[in-house]
Amino acid sequence: MSGIFVTGFIATAITLTGAPQANAWGTSGHNIAAGLAESRLTPTAKQEVDRLLAGESKPTLSGVSTWADQIRSDGSALGKESGAWHYVNIAENNCSYDPAVNGNNGSNIVEALRNQTAILADRTQSDASRNQALKFVVHLAEDIAQPMHGGYARDRGGNSTNVTYLGSKTNLHSVWDSRLLAAGKKSDATYVKELTAQPTPALGSTDPAAWVKESCNIAVSPGVYPANSTIGNEYTAKYLPVAENQLKMSGERLARLINTALANG
Ligand SMILES: [Zn+2]
Repeated sequence: MSGIFVTGFIATAITLTGAPQANAWGTSGHNIAAGLAESRLTPTAKQEVDRLLAGESKPTLSGVSTWADQIRSDGSALGKESGAWHYVNIAENNCSYDPAVNGNNGSNIVEALRNQTAILADRTQSDASRNQALKFVVHLAEDIAQPMHGGYARDRGGNSTNVTYLGSKTNLHSVWDSRLLAAGKKSDATYVKELTAQPTPALGSTDPAAWVKESCNIAVSPGVYPANSTIGNEYTAKYLPVAENQLKMSGERLARLINTALANG
């Protein structure tokens, strides 16, 4: 339970500080997807992940899964530069990622994932660079599955679409980040166990541009933006399974991505 409250507190804090676009999945979402990915790593990839994360206070994929959000507010140059790496708003362009139309001069989640994956896979890079790249990859491969992170520019991925969900005034981005999952009333560990036990589905393309298109298609599907701004159990019943499925896919794809990038021990 404490995880849910912590997530809620962080979401509130971000709202109050007026961050331009809130972090994607809350802590729980990142924990769950990373926990699932951890169990799918090949021995070769796991060995290299363990080596790259050896100096971390929590040297696991889950343990580093929210680092990329934490640095956004730490005042660092990297935190500022990487702020736009967490999303790309493509809904106004028929859910197509087009660098010339919605690519934000290369500063977006598709290019960031491509670039950081390349650094992770490149053994001529320093361990420090590859440690950082791994932390970005873990986080962004999860963020990209949050439908509002491939959504509309006009409401900043749902951040300025206000709703009242289960009696709380919030916005649609926050509902998809953490509030749907919290309404599921399961611990992160239970979610990891359940999603890990499900068979691995067909994972489709390895291209992040295809993943964000899928997220966008969810964001624009009828009903995700509710006709009435007061929503509750009926919204949970319809969309919690969608959010869970997105977490499942992101964890599985993250594992595939890391296993491929670190295949050559
Ligand atoms: Zn994020």
